[in-house]
Parts: sequence; C-alpha cells; structure tokens
Amino acid sequence: MATIEKKEIKKVLIANRGEIALRAIRTIKKMGKEAIVVYSDADKDALYVQLADMAICIGPAKSAQSYLNIPAIITAAEVSGADAIFPGYGFLSENQNFVEICKHHNITFIGPSVEIMDMMADKAKAKDVMIKAKVPTVPGVEGTLRDAAHAKEAAKQIGYPVILKASAGGGGRGMRVVEDESYVENAYLAASSEALSAFGDGSMYIEKYIKSPRHIEVQVIADKHGNVLHLGERDCSMQRRHQKVIEESPAIKLDDKTRKNLHAAAIRACEYIKYENAGTLEFLADENNNFYFMEMNTRLQVEHCVSEMVSGVDIIEWMIKVAEGEPLPKQETIELKGHAIEFRITAEDPVTFIPNPGKIKQYIVPGGKDVRVDSHCYTGYIIPPHYDSMIGKLICYGKDRNDAIARAKQALDELTISGIKTTIEFHKKMLRNEDFINNRYDTKYLDAQIEASKNK
Ligand code: ADP
Repeated sequence: MATIEKKEIKKVLIANRGEIALRAIRTIKKMGKEAIVVYSDADKDALYVQLADMAICIGPAKSAQSYLNIPAIITAAEVSGADAIFPGYGFLSENQNFVEICKHHNITFIGPSVEIMDMMADKAKAKDVMIKAKVPTVPGVEGTLRDAAHAKEAAKQIGYPVILKASAGGGGRGMRVVEDESYVENAYLAASSEALSAFGDGSMYIEKYIKSPRHIEVQVIADKHGNVLHLGERDCSMQRRHQKVIEESPAIKLDDKTRKNLHAAAIRACEYIKYENAGTLEFLADENNNFYFMEMNTRLQVEHCVSEMVSGVDIIEWMIKVAEGEPLPKQETIELKGHAIEFRITAEDPVTFIPNPGKIKQYIVPGGKDVRVDSHCYTGYIIPPHYDSMIGKLICYGKDRNDAIARAKQALDELTISGIKTTIEFHKKMLRNEDFINNRYDTKYLDAQIEASKNK
C-alpha cells in the first residue's frame, strides 16, 4: 500500500450555518485549530459568527447567493488562508462539483472523494453496488425502469405492494406506493414527472414495499489506511413526512445477532467501495428484523450526536483527523454504552408543524449530567425565515432507554423558548405517549397520528 502523507490542518472553514456551524467550531477550537465561518446577511447576528476566529460575509440571505455560492466560499477560504473545508450537512455537503473545485484549489474537503460520492448519489446505482458487496437490499429489479410498461412488468415480478422511487430522490419526493396493478402505470408517470421537475432527472427504480418498517442506520467512519469502523446504529423511525423528528441509539428493537449482522454489513459495504471519512448507511428493518439497505449519506448527519453520546467519540474530530491522514483506532477500542435520544427542536407549530420563524424572547436551556444542547440560538435571536426552522437539538443520555427518557422529561420541562412556536410541546407529549415509551411505532406512525387527530 502506498504510504499516506500526513498533513496537519491548521485552519478550517465551515461552509454551513446554524447549529452545525457552532457544533463544528467547538471541535475545531478544541483541537487547537482556527475556525473560520462564512455567513449570509441574514445570519450576521448568529452565535457562530461571534464565536469563530474569523467570520466572512459571503452574500445575501438567499442560499443560492451565499451558502451555495461556490466562488464566494472558495474566495473566503483563500482570503482567510483556510487549508480545509468542513461542509456539515445539506448545502454543499454532497455537491461533487464543489469537492472537485476544493481539490483544484488545494483545499482539503473534509469528506469522501468525488468518485465515492458519485457512486452513492444515484440511489438505483448505489443499490446495485450494495448487491455486489453482498449487503441485503430491498427485493426489486436491478437498475432503472425504462417506462410505465416496464414498471408494470417489474411490479408483477416483485409482487404487490411495491414502491416506485426516484433514482435522484431525496426528502421523500418522487416516491409512490402502489397496492395493485390498476394504478402502477399512472403512479410511474406521476412520480417520474415529479422527480424530473424536482431533481432534473426522471429516472425511477422499483422495489418491494416493506410494511411497517423501522428506519435504522449505521454510523461509519473510515480512514485512508483501510480501517473501517462503526459507531453503532440509530433508530430514526419517528418521522413526519419522511423527516426525522426523534432519533436514538441503540435501536433496541434489534436482537444482538441482527445488530451484529447489520454492523458487519455496513463495514462490508464501506470496505467494498473503499469509503473514506464519516458516512451513514440507511436501512429499513421489517417486522421480523430483516434489514435492507436503502441509501448511503456521504456526510455527517444531524443525528450524529446520539452516536457520540453512546460511543464517547467526537465524530467531527475524527473526520478532521482522517482528512489529515491519521489512522483510526481499532474497532475493539470502541465501547458502545447506555442509550441516547435526540429531540429536534424546531420553530414550528407543535401540532401542524407549520414553520414559525421570528424573535426568541426568552431562551433557557437545560443542563446537568448527560444533557446536551446543540444550538446557535440565544435570547433576542431572530430566526431568519430563509432557511430550515431548526432551533437546535436536545440530546439526553441514560444508562438505558428508560433512564434516557426520564432525563429527557426533566430536560424538556426546563427548556424554555418563548416568542415563537416550537416543537417542545410535541416532544413533551411524545414522552407521555405509551407507544413511544414502549417502542411500538414504525416510520408511518407519526403521520397516521397527525392524520387521525385532524379527523377528530
Ligand atoms: P429520501 O432520500 O427521499 O428520504 P429514502 O429512500 O431515504 O428517500 O426513503 C425515505 C423513507 O421512505 C424511508 O425512511 C421509509 O419511511 C420510506 N421508504 C423508502 N423505501 C421504502 C420501502 N421499500 N418500503 C417501505 N417504505 C419505504
């Protein structure tokens, strides 16, 4: 194997905003490096702008002109002398063009290579790769569908119900569940045209629709020396319209043998594609604990904190070290212990989830043992209407799930955010919900509950 050159990173530019920008600053500074942030006009008062070693305005509120503005971000990196860029999640974190441009400018992109990103970006292609890596995938037909007639033929072969999914899909768009043959051709046409207008790519693939699934994902990290590690799995089944609302680690529905197999499959996948840096493999698990690969996110995820709580690892620190060429420790040195739950606190109505940005009049966060709050907000801060409505994340740890729930009840009671509507009340209610407490829910649960409450 070629020797890997080690190169210390001294200044990291964070090409993101909000809670994740602040989260990254904390690790970068802890490592004795300089943290540089970029911000839009709308974010000039954000906490991360004040806490960074250097902050550079890159444009107006609109993301296209600021956080997605590649020339402005590269210029900021050059002006500040940053030798690396941390992309966070969303924005440019999975933009292959951006990764190429960073390379061209001799700036280290803290993430995987363009080649790996490309392999995992198209979901139909990624699934084919996983089949080759002997990772279980949802039964379906290989590759993309030619047309509506092909969809019908494939559905017959797989057996109903089936799900039609956009290869370029994201955020649950370009997806249709089909129960029987009468609807399959229309569903194909509707989903494909939705995908074409949303992603500029109408190609579709088809697979078996898993009834009552849990969303379970594995956090992985790999270095340049061929070491691949996992930091356990997360259960993210509490979703509203395919958006995660509560996440936890470990996924206690899994028995030990399934859990072991799941981790082994994730490692096998990474070894097969020669993955590098942090990533997540998302799976669906059915009622019998069979798990199937769904997609891979080649970046850090919002819910990474629960894995940090149970593993004791600072994932961003390891991402930076991997980018510097450092080898990771061995899997045996990682001890996964206890249980962590993350609650996404957003500026949304706790019943309808309609966004409600605006000024925070009072902001009091809980603390104490095993309570973590990742947020860029403070009393008087105005949440701008231009971006997502995330206020922050509350993460609670306990020796087991019940202990973490007890801690979370207390922490949520202490958490006070006034002046805007938030999802705090939603989470408090969830902690009194017997189905949640007894871990009896699937990815459809929350949408069904919301629908039922509307019809009351
Ligand atoms: P996106 O990238 O658009 O979020 P995913 O492939 O991650 O799409 O799927 C999002 C959600 O859709 C999953 O978490 C799950 O709830 C549902 N889903 C996707 N594929 C299936 C399937 N084969 N059977 C049942 N539900 C599915």
